[in-house]
Amino acid sequence: MPTFVRTEKCDGCKGQDRIACMYICPHDLMKLDRDGTETGHAMKSFNQEPDQCWECYSCVKICPQQAIEVRPYADIVPLGAMVQPLRGTDSIMWSIKLRNGTMKRFKFPIRTTPEDSIDPYAGKPAAELAKIDGPGFFNHNELNGFRSGDADELIRK
Ligand code: SF4
Ligand code: SF4
Repeated sequence: MPTFVRTEKCDGCKGQDRIACMYICPHDLMKLDRDGTETGHAMKSFNQEPDQCWECYSCVKICPQQAIEVRPYADIVPLGAMVQPLRGTDSIMWSIKLRNGTMKRFKFPIRTTPEDSIDPYAGKPAAELAKIDGPGFFNHNELNGFRSGDADELIRK
């Protein structure tokens, strides 16, 4: 089921050019209605194509105001219930509200390194445009474009 924005919570990411939910949506669905002509709610975000929503929860997790919710399927989350994440820098808290009002919260660690500390290209060779039509990946240049796995590159061993 698609996302929807709680207009009383959304602050339009304080009018920045690129709002957080718009930035993160893999399907470009979230949009800021700057003057209110599209929704009647100026400076509030909205899901412009609910039918196309993947329900990936990316926008829900990144929204700093917790203004975005996902309409859950009635068979798993009955009317009146809620599933809402709150993402921190090292953990995520899921709040589950049952239909009878009972609240449950679950907190999970999400990373072991500081935010923005990952360099995904560290130690990898530069891409060679001359090989762009060939099979394989830019950093896999052994054995016909592929190389065998290296246990030292695993995050968990
Ligand atoms: S990320 Fe949240 S606060 Fe920012 S525009 Fe989207 S819904 Fe509003
Ligand atoms: S749940 Fe995913 S696909 Fe749907 S609006 Fe949010 S980020 Fe986009």
